[in-house]
Amino acid sequence: MTRTEMYRRLRAHTGPWDILIAGGGATGVGAAIDAATRGYDVLLLERHDFGKGTSSRSTKLVHGGVRYLEQGNISLVMEALKERGLLLKNAPHLVHDLGFVVPNYDWWEAPFYGLGLKLYNLLAGKYGFGTSRILSREETLERIPNLKPEGLRGGVIYYDGQFDDARLLIDMASTAYEQGATLLNYVEVAGLTKDADGFIDGAVARDAETGEEFTLQTKVVINATGAFTDHLRLAANPAAEPIIAPSQGIHLVFDRSFLSGDSAIMVPHTSDGRVMFAIPWHGHALVGTTDTPIAAATLEPMAMEKEIEFILSTAALYLDRAPTRGDVLSVFAGIRPLVRSSAAGNTAALSRDHTIHIEPSGLLSVCGGKWTTYRRMAEDCVNQAATLATLPDRPCVTHQLNVHGFHPNAAKFGPLRVYGSDAAAIEAIQRDDPSLAAPLHAALPYTGAEVVWAARREMARTVEDVLARRTRALFLNARAAIEMAPRVAGLMSAEFGEDGVWEENEVEAFEEVARNYVLN
Ligand SMILES: Cc1cc2nc3c(=O)[nH]c(=O)nc-3n(C[C@H](O)[C@H](O)[C@H](O)COP(=O)(O)OP(=O)(O)OC[C@H]3O[C@@H](n4cnc5c(N)ncnc54)[C@H](O)[C@@H]3O)c2cc1C
Repeated sequence: MTRTEMYRRLRAHTGPWDILIAGGGATGVGAAIDAATRGYDVLLLERHDFGKGTSSRSTKLVHGGVRYLEQGNISLVMEALKERGLLLKNAPHLVHDLGFVVPNYDWWEAPFYGLGLKLYNLLAGKYGFGTSRILSREETLERIPNLKPEGLRGGVIYYDGQFDDARLLIDMASTAYEQGATLLNYVEVAGLTKDADGFIDGAVARDAETGEEFTLQTKVVINATGAFTDHLRLAANPAAEPIIAPSQGIHLVFDRSFLSGDSAIMVPHTSDGRVMFAIPWHGHALVGTTDTPIAAATLEPMAMEKEIEFILSTAALYLDRAPTRGDVLSVFAGIRPLVRSSAAGNTAALSRDHTIHIEPSGLLSVCGGKWTTYRRMAEDCVNQAATLATLPDRPCVTHQLNVHGFHPNAAKFGPLRVYGSDAAAIEAIQRDDPSLAAPLHAALPYTGAEVVWAARREMARTVEDVLARRTRALFLNARAAIEMAPRVAGLMSAEFGEDGVWEENEVEAFEEVARNYVLN
């Protein structure tokens, strides 16, 4: 998967595309896989890097959503639990099951949550993970040794899925590519063109690297721009009413010593009525999230002070050693592309179901939903897009489609397990040049070979692409990522045939972004 090959496909294409997708997050790339596997001609354009938006900033859960159960949204939970099962089967190198302990400090909590989580098991049917059960106080502390022991009565354990969001997205992009799709990062859909009847028949694309603008013809445009959905809708119809109510969620990342043991903590009711998780992730502890309505979406959202304080104070209620600001290794924010509802009083109550919105001009916007349900969202939206574009009817085949990198026993690759079947190629780079085998920083496992691989085969274009989304360095330890940046820039410039000026500019640009992930 290289940019050169993608441009070759673009230039070689004649006539209108069957489907043009704007947005390279989980929704857009999922739709590209779906469309390509049905044999449609599909082009996806992402204005920044794949996953730069919300899709690299999630809580990393492949889940049915225990909270939606409480809201009585049974069908949403069942659908997500089915998708959870399919994703584990199709991408076992990136998804695994994880035990979540709900600690009980009140007498009524064990029977209450015990019963609710039994229902959660039941709804998963044949797609079930482990069985939930009530834990004694001793069992609870054995699983989560860092829990505050005072007043602890016991807990309830249930099982859900965990994954690496940006890594899955990159492997999904490779899957789409292998199925014949053309995908370009750093190319924006800057405008839409219409035919004489006012129907959208093309898009104006702008390459952010070269500044080049070109017009592309297409039978239908899928708007999968997440929190930016309304921007493209307004381009199609300046009078369009907004449908997105953006809401921000942040996470704090700590050293793993704050959460030893193999299980996660799930707090079902924080003081603001939300769910909070503390999850082991890539050798660290990830704690979040919040739900703060915001006025407008930005590509690099910033955590608010009150969100940081809220997570620290909630964590202090449950953890034996309360984390402080000084313990935060990284802080990151993401924006939920929630669909507006005039009835909902706050964003936490808004539906997480997805919505497909079709404008009179034929622009098809798909938004809302969850990472977990991306495959189902893609199936629904490509069904609709095919109708709009009068494409031949072809069934969706992604239920049983292995994601690129599929490997039934990727654990054997150690720190490279997230690459699945690609790990062997990265090991070969390390063997050819042993200087690329050592970690680039003492605090993180990432090696020079991974940087080379990302530049050669995963369309990483910038130091940020490598440190934020091909590896997860920025999300795990922002200061370490900043310290790694010059080495990463050096390795990339050697791959691209760039010079010292390019390296300096790249390091400077990365530092500017990375400063937002450091808590002072
Ligand atoms: C804090 C938080 C935690 C979450 N946790 C979970 C979880 O644990 N599990 C789960 O299942 N779901 C979770 N979600 C939900 C999930 O992350 C989102 O539903 C999903 O990532 C949305 O993907 P998307 O592709 O629609 O949007 P995005 O990932 O934001 O992608 C949209 C893309 O469109 C691009 N774009 C915008 N305008 C243009 C244009 N004009 N031309 C080209 N490209 C453009 C953007 O750059 C962006 O990359 C969470 C969400 C948040 C905010």
